[in-house]
Amino acid sequence: MSDDHASHAISAYGSKINKTPNIDRIAKEGARLENCFCTNSICTPSRAAILTGQYSHKNGVNTLNDKLDPKSRTVAKYLQADGYQTAMIGKWHLVTEPQGFDHWRILPGQGAYYDPEFIEPTGRKKYPGYCTDLITDFALEFLNGRDKEKPFFLMCHHKAPHRAWDPGPKYKDFLKDQTIPEPSNLYEEPRHNEKMSVGQHQTFRDLKVKPPEGLTGDALRKWAYQLYIKDYLRCVQSVDDSVGRVLDYLDNNNLRDNTLIIYTSDQGFFLGDHGLYDKRLMYEESLRMPFLARYPKEIKAGTVNSDIILNIDFAHTFMDFAGLGRDQYMDGESFRTNLQGRTAENWRKSMYYRYWMHDDGDHHVPGHYGVRTKDHKLICFPTGTAQWEFYDLKRDPKEMRNAYSDTANQLTIKRMKQELTRLQHKYEDTPAHF
Ligand code: CA
Repeated sequence: MSDDHASHAISAYGSKINKTPNIDRIAKEGARLENCFCTNSICTPSRAAILTGQYSHKNGVNTLNDKLDPKSRTVAKYLQADGYQTAMIGKWHLVTEPQGFDHWRILPGQGAYYDPEFIEPTGRKKYPGYCTDLITDFALEFLNGRDKEKPFFLMCHHKAPHRAWDPGPKYKDFLKDQTIPEPSNLYEEPRHNEKMSVGQHQTFRDLKVKPPEGLTGDALRKWAYQLYIKDYLRCVQSVDDSVGRVLDYLDNNNLRDNTLIIYTSDQGFFLGDHGLYDKRLMYEESLRMPFLARYPKEIKAGTVNSDIILNIDFAHTFMDFAGLGRDQYMDGESFRTNLQGRTAENWRKSMYYRYWMHDDGDHHVPGHYGVRTKDHKLICFPTGTAQWEFYDLKRDPKEMRNAYSDTANQLTIKRMKQELTRLQHKYEDTPAHF
């Protein structure tokens, strides 16, 4: 898993701005999920949702400031109890120490790109080198040193390509003389007073150079976009190399056929879309997670699945692949058979989303919740007088026009509101007033 890697910066997902040959190998030799979504688009909560299989309000990790309760029931604990050798390497970001892992070496908080410090059960230690390369080295070290008679569960979690996008030595000058295509909605202004506009809200630390004197508005955005996206893509390129190294290790050590390997990210990211960087909002670029999986034993090469699959489903799915049953406290479902091309008749047709970190004093994104079906999305910003947004994703895939007031949509909106209420009831959440 990487951090903040949007699917539209992966060539297997049709990226127009980069190529990720190693990540693409997983898609080519396995499956690609087209509609994998996070339930709360931000780092710490998504990580907690993945481990516990629960919505944020159930596992208690609603915001970046919440800790994962060490007593939480997690997929790692279940697999460890079942005899798996479990390891967690890289970005953890859940405040409390990892539980359910035989071996762990994690970054403190966000961690550093260069010469990072890691925390291990014996204490803290600084390692010279580039974070993405080090995490890969440590992951391969674990695979090499493991008890080869027992199964393993390894979470290799990269910091990259998280802000402030520091490229590795190998890719410092990558893309230097190129102009990266701009998204069509790069010059859009914030809709919710959020402070995540490319250029305007990016710091010297983000861009590493001062804007030319007098540069403002669209010109500033145009200039900053190139700096931002190039550093982002440089970080991605090191992650892609890492994936290649892990795949090669599995292939060369007779682990190919019997190992389920997954590439994903904790959420999506705005790559200048709607004029933004960062995530949090329920719009497509932030909501969608890349998810690619290879398991030659039962996933057909080149599988593309468009079912609605969520980060809360990962825990159950991993347990299902290990032959373990369901934990009644988890909200998610196993999508093992979906990956085999056999989707259950009653598989979900809608998903519930909620962003809890109301106006964090930095990004200023208001708390909101919503429901997405295959073709439609309804979002509620409940602060003060509730503001609603409705998008017909077939007609308006980039969500450029709020069609909430259109007469033709009223029946659909009514049904979506009913669905929202049903999901809030099902997952025992209550409509919010921030
Ligand atoms: Ca993240």
